[in-house]
Amino acid sequence: KGEGKFIVGGNWKCNGTTESIAQLISDLNAGTITKDLEVVCAPPFVYLAQTQASLGPPFEIAAQNVWTGAGGAYTGEISADMIKDLGINWTITGHSERRALCGESNEIVAEKTAYALSLGLKVIVCIGESLEERQNGSTLAVCCAQLKAVAEVVSDWSNIVIAYEPIWAIGTGVVATPEQAQETHAGIRKWLAAAVSPEVASKMRIQYGGSVNAGNCDVLAQQDDIDGFLVGGASLQGDSFITICNSAV
Ligand code: PEP
Repeated sequence: KGEGKFIVGGNWKCNGTTESIAQLISDLNAGTITKDLEVVCAPPFVYLAQTQASLGPPFEIAAQNVWTGAGGAYTGEISADMIKDLGINWTITGHSERRALCGESNEIVAEKTAYALSLGLKVIVCIGESLEERQNGSTLAVCCAQLKAVAEVVSDWSNIVIAYEPIWAIGTGVVATPEQAQETHAGIRKWLAAAVSPEVASKMRIQYGGSVNAGNCDVLAQQDDIDGFLVGGASLQGDSFITICNSAV
C-alpha cells in the first residue's frame, strides 16, 4: 500500500439535477462511515456551489476537469484558479472520457495536472488502457506513457493520486479481477520507482476505477497495491458509495 489514508473518489460525471443532487448529498450526509479514509466527490461544475453548501465532512469536493492554465479567452472552460477560488482543494485530470471524447492527449493531461498542482490543488490523475491495448499486451506501456508525460512536467508528486482505470471496465459492469488490478498497480508502482523515485513509488496512492460497486469493493480493497477507488456509476447511489467507502483497508 502507498502511504496515507485509503482514498475513495466519486465521479458524478455529467449527471444530476438540483433536486437529485440534493437527494444524493442528503443520503451521503446521513450515511455512516466507519473507516478513517479520505473521500472526494466530484459533481458537475454547475453543482459545485450547491455541493459545497450542503455536503459535510468527511466528504471533500473535487472538480472533474480543469483548463490547462490560467483563465482568459477560453469559452466554456473552467480554470484551476477558479476551483481554488471557490475553496475546493481537488481536481481530477485525464479521465478516459476526456481523453477519448475531448481529444485530451497525454501532454494536455500533464499540462493540466502541472498547472493545478502549481496552484496547490491536489490532483487525481487518471490513466488506463483500452480493451485492444490489454489484449495486445501493452497495458503497462500505455499507462506508463501516460505517466511519463506527467513526469516530464511535474517534479513534486506529493499532491498526486493516480487512478488506474482500464477503459474496458468503465461503465461496463466488467470489473477488472483483483489479480488484474493488483498486477497493473504493482507494475505502475515499479515504473514510478525506476522513472521517478523509490520514495514517490512507495508513497503513491493508486486508486482502481472501473465498475467498482458495493459487491466487489472488499476483495479489491484487500489487494496490496490498491489504495482506494475512483467510482462512477455507484457514486450516484448514496448507500452503495458509503459501502464502498467502508471497504477501506
Ligand atoms: C469512472 O468513470 O471513473 C468510473 C470508474 O466509472 P464506473 O464506476 O461507472 O465504471
